[in-house]
Formats: sequence, structure tokens, C-alpha cells
Amino acid sequence: MKRIIAQNNFFHLTQFDLNQTEVLFAPKYNSIHQKDFFVRRFNALSKIAPHLKWVESIDENDFDIALAWDAIDEKKTLGKKLNPIQNRLFSSLPFKLPESFTPFRQLAETQLPSLFHPATPPWDEEIKKELHYYFVEKKLPLTYLETRNEMLGRDGSTKFSSFLSTGFLDVRYLYNEVRQFESIHGTTKSSGWIIFELLWREFFYWHYQENSRSYFSRFGLKSLDFSQVTQYSLSELNKMKADPFFHAGLNELIATGYLSNRARQIFASIWINDLELDWRSGAKLFEEHLIDYDVYSNYGNWMYLAGVGVDPRGKRYFNVKKQLELYDPKGEYLKTWGILS
Ligand SMILES: Cc1cc2nc3c(=O)[nH]c(=O)nc-3n(C[C@H](O)[C@H](O)[C@H](O)COP(=O)(O)OP(=O)(O)OC[C@H]3O[C@@H](n4cnc5c(N)ncnc54)[C@H](O)[C@@H]3O)c2cc1C
Repeated sequence: MKRIIAQNNFFHLTQFDLNQTEVLFAPKYNSIHQKDFFVRRFNALSKIAPHLKWVESIDENDFDIALAWDAIDEKKTLGKKLNPIQNRLFSSLPFKLPESFTPFRQLAETQLPSLFHPATPPWDEEIKKELHYYFVEKKLPLTYLETRNEMLGRDGSTKFSSFLSTGFLDVRYLYNEVRQFESIHGTTKSSGWIIFELLWREFFYWHYQENSRSYFSRFGLKSLDFSQVTQYSLSELNKMKADPFFHAGLNELIATGYLSNRARQIFASIWINDLELDWRSGAKLFEEHLIDYDVYSNYGNWMYLAGVGVDPRGKRYFNVKKQLELYDPKGEYLKTWGILS
């Protein structure tokens, strides 16, 4: 019987005959909510993979194939038996990657088909339910553009990132869902914006393939500097004198493993501009806690906000007061995460 190891990525597991395959599930997690996320995936997978085993560590010699999760583990742990299939819209780039995102988008959009055949359907009931809720029950692509910056609640954005990052949801399947939604409800700027965000995800992956070393350099694309990255303990972070938003964001991140895109941007801006800390330490904090951690999107976004990535406009400074007036006018975010009473 073939033995497959899947670290955090289950993308394309269905290409194997799971009745004839022993699957070693070796998730990497640092916190209770991450473990909980993987326990749920494990339980769902057990229904279709009868020879599924949870293992806490990997023995290099003990498997035939490993499914790639992220670039770091590809290199460090998994050696040559790696099946380098990533959960991306393109399996290889049909064009040369330009420096900045806008030309990438213009090129990539023309290459996108009306539907991807085949895309792997999800097998996990929780994910199927979420897709149904998002596209059928609530028809949320109609309002995505207006609500995507909301920092609280389920419905502002898709909340599919953790399923995508860990490969339990095929990005091509999600893409098809958006297109099918559009075939019923019409093509709108709002539904199109979901595709646009998926292209960001895609962009960081392909950009990394050409610039991987820069993603871990303090000066990013500008110059290579691999000085040591400081890791801060929770008590050190709690003591930092920063805008209350920082502590609310930290509380949410630690409690749930998730922050909205807007909250990630404001948090990163405070980290980089107000606290003047190394952006890589912030990226490391996210790496430890996010349930949707993805090396390309995480480091790519942090680098971008620190002004050493692909953004031609340089460092992004978010005026926290203005941001909160716009996105948290009643202080609900701060209240929810224990900062205001
Ligand atoms: C500092 C920082 C760190 C981040 N780290 C990660 C990370 O480790 N993993 C991760 O998946 N995303 C990361 N993002 C991107 C984004 O914040 C999350 O993908 C998004 O908040 C997830 O919620 P959602 O699924 O509801 O997103 P939606 O708004 O519903 O977007 C749909 C999908 O598009 C993709 N996407 C959306 N925004 C971005 C973006 N800015 N960059 C790349 N892809 C995007 C995601 O796959 C997301 O699930 C980061 C952003 C910032 C600013």
C-alpha cells in the first residue's frame, strides 16, 4: 500500500485511490485554534480515507510521496519524494511575470477560462456547507465589494482562506463557483472582485518563485539582509505601547487565528510604522497563529506594506484614527476584542 504524507496540504489527495493508500496526516500547528481546525479536517477526511492516521512528526524514510504544503517545508523536511502540486489557478505561468501587480492582473485575466475543467470538488461537509451558505443561501458575492473591509462578522468577506491555504478547497473550484454564480445572477464588479483577490493570492505565489530569497530579507526586493528575526512573546507584545487597535487585533489573532484583511493591514502598519519593528517579526507572529497561513501571501503582503515588496508606491502608512472612523465608527471591534467596555 502506498504511503502519502500530507503536512498541511491536502490539495489533490483525491488523485489517489484512498482505499489503497495510507495517508499520514501531519499538520503543523502552534495553537489550540489551529489544532482544532485540523482535528475537524481530520474527522471529515476519515470518512473518505479509511487508512488515515494522525502523526505528530515525520520520519523522512517512512513514506512514498509527500504533498507539498509550503516552500519552507518543501525544502526542509520533505526532500525528493515531494509531489509539488500547489493549489493555484495556473499550473504554470503562460507569460513572463511583470514586476508589479496591475500588469499581472491584466495579463492573467485574459488567460482565465470561463470554467476550470476539472476542478476538485470539496469532500468536507463543513466546506460544502460554507460554499452553499455563501453562494446560494446568502448570495454574498453581490455585496462583497461593499462589505469586504468589515472587521467583524461572518459575511463581510468569503472566509475561505483557511480552506484554500491548507488545500482542502481547490481554488479552481472556488473560481468556478464565482463564475457559476455570475451565470445566474449576472457579472458584477462585486463578484469580479473576489476573482481579483484570488489573483493577488496567485500573484504572490508566482512572484515568490522568482524572488524567494527576498521574501525573508529585511529589505525585501531592495537588498538581501538575513539578520536574525526577533520573536516576541505574548507578554512582551501585551506590554507594547501602541494604539488600542493593536491590542484588539492581537487579542483576535491569538483567540481565533484569523484577522480580516483590513485588520491585518492596520495591524501591520502599526507594527512597521509606529512601533518601528522589523516587518519579518510581524510576519513570523502571523505565521505562528493564522489558520490560513500561507508563506507567499503572508510574507508578500507584509513585505508590500513595509515598502520593500512589489508596491511601487513605497511604504503603506495607515492612519489608524481615520481607519477606525471608517471601519469601526462605533468602536465595536475594540469592544469585541476587549479594549473598550
Ligand atoms: C499582513 C497581511 C498578511 C496576510 N497573510 C495571509 C496569509 O498568511 N494567508 C492568506 O491566505 N492570506 C493572507 N493575507 C491576505 C488576506 O488578508 C486574507 O487572505 C483574507 O483576509 C482572508 O479572508 P477571506 O478568505 O475572507 O478573504 P476574501 O476577502 O474573501 O478574499 C478571497 C480570497 O482571496 C485571497 N486574498 C484576499 N486578499 C488577499 C491578499 N491581500 N493577498 C493574497 N490573497 C488574498 C484569499 O485566498 C482569500 O481567501 C494577508 C494580508 C495581510 C495584509
